[in-house]
Amino acid sequence: MTKYIFVTGGVLSSLGKGLAAASIGALLESRGYNITIQKLDPYINVDPGTMSPFQHGEVFVTDDGAETDLDLGHYERFTNMSATQQHNWTTGRIYQKVINKERRGDYLGNTVQVIPHITDEIKNSITKLASPETDIVLVEIGGTVGDIESLPFLEAIRQLRLEVGPSDAINLHLTYVPYMRAAGELKSKPTQHSVKELRSIGIQPDIILCRSEYDLPDDLRRKVALFCNVPTDAVKVAIDVDNIYKVPLKLADQNLDSLVCQLLNLDAGKIDLRKWRDLSALIDSDRAEVNLAIIGKYVDYPDSYKSISEAFTHAGFHHRVRVKVEWLESARFEKGQHLEELARFDGIMIPGGFGSRGVEGMIRAIQYAREAHIPFFGICLGMQLASVEFARNVAGLESANSSEFEDDPRYKIIYKLRELVDIDEMGGTMRLGAYHCELEPGSLARKAYGAEAVSERHRHRYEFNIEFKKSLEAKGLTFSGISPDGMFMEIIELRNHPWFLGCQFHPEFKSKPFEPHPLFRDFVGAALKRHKSQADTQKADSPKEEAVS
Ligand code: GLN
Repeated sequence: MTKYIFVTGGVLSSLGKGLAAASIGALLESRGYNITIQKLDPYINVDPGTMSPFQHGEVFVTDDGAETDLDLGHYERFTNMSATQQHNWTTGRIYQKVINKERRGDYLGNTVQVIPHITDEIKNSITKLASPETDIVLVEIGGTVGDIESLPFLEAIRQLRLEVGPSDAINLHLTYVPYMRAAGELKSKPTQHSVKELRSIGIQPDIILCRSEYDLPDDLRRKVALFCNVPTDAVKVAIDVDNIYKVPLKLADQNLDSLVCQLLNLDAGKIDLRKWRDLSALIDSDRAEVNLAIIGKYVDYPDSYKSISEAFTHAGFHHRVRVKVEWLESARFEKGQHLEELARFDGIMIPGGFGSRGVEGMIRAIQYAREAHIPFFGICLGMQLASVEFARNVAGLESANSSEFEDDPRYKIIYKLRELVDIDEMGGTMRLGAYHCELEPGSLARKAYGAEAVSERHRHRYEFNIEFKKSLEAKGLTFSGISPDGMFMEIIELRNHPWFLGCQFHPEFKSKPFEPHPLFRDFVGAALKRHKSQADTQKADSPKEEAVS
């Protein structure tokens, strides 16, 4: 029978509930259990697809095309689970479902209410993830206890635990224990208040996980335990770490996962943490640095490119180097100024994005990377702009553009496929989720993946216009990844360049610490090569005395 772990948060937002859930999931997997993790978000938007990355961070896309919360990225990276539409529900989507049922007459004339109709729908969304293959479902409730919006979700998990019984469902509450410099003390009062709030709506936490800058002294653990009505051993610390991939070990060191097993009446068995320990040692080791520039629009909000940052960290693990990323605002390069600043980087990336702001600056940077032979990686918008740059500056199609940025450009290199071909199955307005793509023998892509075909996730409205395929090919652009029906150009690349590749999909969503994405891996590999050769040139150029001293 499937068991449940409900993860709630108190005191503040951004305490790392998602990472805590992902880490506990990883530890339970290390004990041989099959787990899955779900996020329930109390906001009213039906999904985060329409929310600004400035406000909500990255939209994480699943294979089945769901636009979800970025915590699902952590779940997939830390564990073997694969997220779907069913793994992220919002208040908006729950209400939408209930309202649709009401309109269809499914409630047979009953008054539709938060309890039981909304709470039943929430419970359905949770229990739907139970299956004979799934031992444990972890459910993270977004927001903070005390928010009006989260009440129906909390009520639903209260009911669910009552229904399945205490040995099949437990509550873990993540709180914050601040350090007060003036008093020189860690403070437990906010935790006490948060648990009081939770208990007032009928939820008694089984485990209290305290996010803290410092380890918790024994007397503080005892105090939290006493006031919050849990055994002292159930008070654990989620201590600040310099790298998120250390969190599972920090929790394992306090036997958090064996306590979870004990509470859920599960055989704790043996745990194998070797891969996490090796990774932790690698993180602490002295590693050379590779410097990359990411040129984009949301650069002041690194959360909007969460999966990209993580994918670079993973590629760094593979090469045993530290990947240092500098985020540059593309407007800086708009008129072709400041481009020489890019020479010091080992690689240049243009990530995905929407809207015309800053795109001319990105095109300039791409031209610079192409001409100066700096490894280049373009993702989605980055690939589209690399095609436009090539059309303009190599193929002589000067007014080439994407119809996203200009109404009717003379050379419409990137366009909305629906403008010319009516493809019904494109459904909404974006191409979302996993699509297959066949790889050209001998290409960078084929070499990276070591496969003839791959499946990657998409999130975009515009496509490369195949009318221009032949003319750009004639000038040296390689289309190394094409959809099986020949309609979609998924990967472009250049020969005669150390590494220049653009992909229409988002490879960052599939990168994991123990399985770095092949394209990120090879891009960082190319950047590392440049880094080493530049260091060698510098050495050779420096005066003898200096080299000796
Ligand atoms: N704006 C482009 C499109 O919609 C690229 C989207 C993206 O980079 N995710 O096609």
